Amino acid sequence: MTDTTAARLQQLFTAQRQAFAADSDPSHALRMDRLARLQALMEEHETALIAAIDADFGGRSPHETRMAELFVLRAGLRHAQSHLKRWMRPQRVATALHFLPGSNRLLAQPLGVVGVISPWNYPLQLALGPALAALAAGNRVLLKPSELTPRLSALLAELVARYYAPEEMAVVTGDAAIGQAFAALPFDHLFFTGSTQVGRQIAQLAAANLTPVTLELGGKSPAILDRSCRLHSSLQRIAFGKLLNAGQTCVAPDYLLVPRGQAAGVAQELAQAMGRLYPRLHDNPDYTAIISPRHRARLQALVEEARGGGAQVIEVNPAGEELGHSRKLAPTLILGATPSMRVMQEEIFGPVLPILEYDQAEDAIAQVRQGPRPLALYWFGEDAARREQMLRQTHAGGVTINDCLWHLVQEEQPFGGVGESGMGAYHGRWGFDTFSKRKPVFRQARFNGGTLLHPPYGKTFERV
Ligand code: NAD
Repeated sequence: MTDTTAARLQQLFTAQRQAFAADSDPSHALRMDRLARLQALMEEHETALIAAIDADFGGRSPHETRMAELFVLRAGLRHAQSHLKRWMRPQRVATALHFLPGSNRLLAQPLGVVGVISPWNYPLQLALGPALAALAAGNRVLLKPSELTPRLSALLAELVARYYAPEEMAVVTGDAAIGQAFAALPFDHLFFTGSTQVGRQIAQLAAANLTPVTLELGGKSPAILDRSCRLHSSLQRIAFGKLLNAGQTCVAPDYLLVPRGQAAGVAQELAQAMGRLYPRLHDNPDYTAIISPRHRARLQALVEEARGGGAQVIEVNPAGEELGHSRKLAPTLILGATPSMRVMQEEIFGPVLPILEYDQAEDAIAQVRQGPRPLALYWFGEDAARREQMLRQTHAGGVTINDCLWHLVQEEQPFGGVGESGMGAYHGRWGFDTFSKRKPVFRQARFNGGTLLHPPYGKTFERV
C-alpha cells in the first residue's frame, strides 16, 4: 500500500468523523435524500454498472446482474424509504412497577462512521446493500470493494464521489493490504462480507479498537431431499439455485443429500434440469463465467481430485462445447465424493455439486451437524414432522423450504450467518438496527417513591 493511499484513507476517515460530530442526528429528510441519491446513482448508470460487472467477470449474465444486484437493491431501498420514519421513531416500552409513573423509551441513534468491506461475487449488491442500511440509520460510510472486480470498484468510486460529499460516503479501492489498513481504523461499526478465513482476521483487527463487527461469511450450505419431496420441481429449483452466477453465490447449495439408492437417478434428472436452463454455455448470455482463471483452476482441481479418488464426475455440457480457453465452467455433478476430498472440505463456490446419500432422516441431520454451521440450509419435502425435526436439530444462517436462495430477499427477515458462517444480520429493519444504537432512556417522574431507595436504609430491603 502506498503512503498516498494510507494518507487518503486516514483523511477520509477523519473528515467523516468530524462531519458526524457536527451533525450526529441527521433528520428524516436528509436520510431520505441520501437514499434517493443512491437510487439515482443506480437508475442513471444502470447500463455502465452492468457493463463493468460483465467485463470484470469476463461474461456476467446481464439478466443476473439486473435480478440479483439491481432488483435486490431497489427492493431494499424501497423498503427502507417506506419504513424509515417508523424505524426512527423513539419506541415506548413498559416501565417497571416501582418506577411508575416514570417512563421508558428506546432512542435509535446513528453509530457514527461505518466501514463496509465487500467481496467480488455480487460486487454491487454487497457494497451498496450494507451502505443503504447504514445511511438510513444516519451514519457516514466508507466502502472498500473487492480488487477482483476492478472496473466495477473504480466505477463505484467515481459515481459515489459524484453523488455524495466525501464526508457522507466515499469509496477506497485496493487489495488485501488496503483491506487490512481499512479494518484497523477505529470505525464505529465494521461490516464485512467475504470468506470465513478473512473474516477471522477482520474480527481481530476490529477487536483492537473494540469496533463491533458484522461478519457475513460463507461455508458449505446443504440441500436435502426428503423422501416426501416432489422430485421434479425440487431438482429444477436446485438447478437454478446452484447455477445462478455459476454457483458463485454465498447461499448457493454446496452439496446435495438424497435418500439412499437415489443418487444416480437424481444426478440424471438434475443434469437434464441444468441442461434445460443452459442448453449452451460458452456464448450464452444467461450463463455467468468464473471470476478469474485462478478461481476456475481451483474448481477444476477440486473436480480432478475427486475423479482421481474414484468419484464419478458428470459434466453438463449439452452442446458438447470446448470450454478449455473459456472462463466458463460446465455445471458438474459428483457422485461418490468422500469426506476427505477437498470438494467436501472447502466451500465450493462454483457450478460443482457433490451428491451424497443418507439412510435415515437422523443421518442427514448428523451429516449437517458434523460440519461448521452453514450460512443456508435447503430442505425439500412435504413431511411436516421430518421438516420440523431438521429445522430444530440443525443450525444455519437461514432456511428456504422447497426452494433455494429466496429467504435472502425477504425484507421482513434478517439475513446473516451463525457460527463460522458469520455473526450479526442486516436487511430491512435488521440493517437499520445493526447500524443504530438503540439507547434506553428512563425518565424519572417528579413524584415517585424512588427516594425510598436511598439511605438510611433501615428495614427497606429486609423484605425484598
Ligand atoms: P475475501 O474474504 O477474499 O475478500 C472479501 C473482501 O475482503 C475483499 O474486499 C478483499 O479485498 C478484502 N480482504 C481480503 N483479505 C483481507 C485482509 N487480510 N484484511 C482485510 N481485508 C481483506 O472473499 P471473496 O473471495 O471476495 O468472496 C467470497 C467469499 O465471500 C465466499 O466465502 C462467500 O461465501 C463469501 N460471501 C458471503 C456472503 C454473505 O452474505 N454471507 C455474501 C457473498 C460472499
